[in-house]
Amino acid sequence: MLNYDLHCHSRYSDGTLSPAELVARAAGREVKVLALTDHDDVAGLAEAAQAAAEHGIEFINGVEISVTWRKHTVHIVGLHIDPQYPALAEGLRTIRSGRRHRAELMAESLARCGIGGVMEGALRFASNPDMIGRTHFARYMVEAGHCKDVRSVFNRYLVNGKPGYVQHEWANLQDAIAWIRGAGGIAVLAHPGRYTAGRKPMGKTTLVELLKEFVAAGGQGIEVVSGSHTPPQYAEFARYAREYDLLCSCGSDFHGPEESYRDLGRLPDFPLECRPVWEAWKSDFDAVRPEPVEGLGVNENVVRQVHLERSFESGKEK
Ligand code: AMP
Ligand code: MN
Ligand code: MN
Ligand code: MN
Repeated sequence: MLNYDLHCHSRYSDGTLSPAELVARAAGREVKVLALTDHDDVAGLAEAAQAAAEHGIEFINGVEISVTWRKHTVHIVGLHIDPQYPALAEGLRTIRSGRRHRAELMAESLARCGIGGVMEGALRFASNPDMIGRTHFARYMVEAGHCKDVRSVFNRYLVNGKPGYVQHEWANLQDAIAWIRGAGGIAVLAHPGRYTAGRKPMGKTTLVELLKEFVAAGGQGIEVVSGSHTPPQYAEFARYAREYDLLCSCGSDFHGPEESYRDLGRLPDFPLECRPVWEAWKSDFDAVRPEPVEGLGVNENVVRQVHLERSFESGKEK
């Protein structure tokens, strides 16, 4: 079991625990390094950092940015960000400002098929009303007896093609990566195995195009071990990481005790060939923004920097 968990949610987005409760739970599950990655908001980071210091956990400032790439919604995790970096803070504010209107459209659409009162109901589940999203709708609809659990609400009402689904334009891929990099962070493609095209999984050709664009825009990492990946997907995305020279990340994507695929810290180790994303900040934080060497890509430069420092430390620089 790895003691790194670099993807989870608090009440500041669509998790059910406060940042302090989340950190306490992580500590109880032997997590040693934790990143809080709320959707489109960094408001929970200070509380989580404080709690982590009390529990002796290393804390990483994170965020999960909602992005529209072509017609697809994809998520980009930023790790080790400076949450106060103005372009990032402003970008996230813009994303959040679209959520309320989208929620109203979702509620209207559900009302047309006989499910009323959803906006008010969902808002009761959103402790951060700016961040209202599909999960809050789903929790309310379970409470109101429309379905037995959150997953069934998504499948019946909230995924593409269902009555409560509303197309929405999130941030663009290049902007999201630039905000993260500008904030000194590492941009990681979240749970690539979960992306869909309409109601089917995203095809390999499209995924490869996404990866190429992600790397060209300065993306540096990919989630290989995710709470929402199957074991064969760990191997599959480890291969993509190698092919596209990406650092590998791992995270449970924990949202709450009742709803998550995996509990905090309950993740298997990486496949052997993976270079962990924390190499970038363990050796020297500047390694995530090295001076580029002509002819080398962004990520080759990150890795080059890490290797230079390692060989220096062990006295065999070459
Ligand atoms: P939103 O950003 O409002 O579109 O909500 C996206 C969130 O909904 C994700 O981060 C997940 O927490 C949750 N979600 C998406 N798809 C599903 C699903 N099929 N079952 C359960 N939760 C889901
Ligand atoms: Mn979520
Ligand atoms: Mn996600
Ligand atoms: Mn997530």
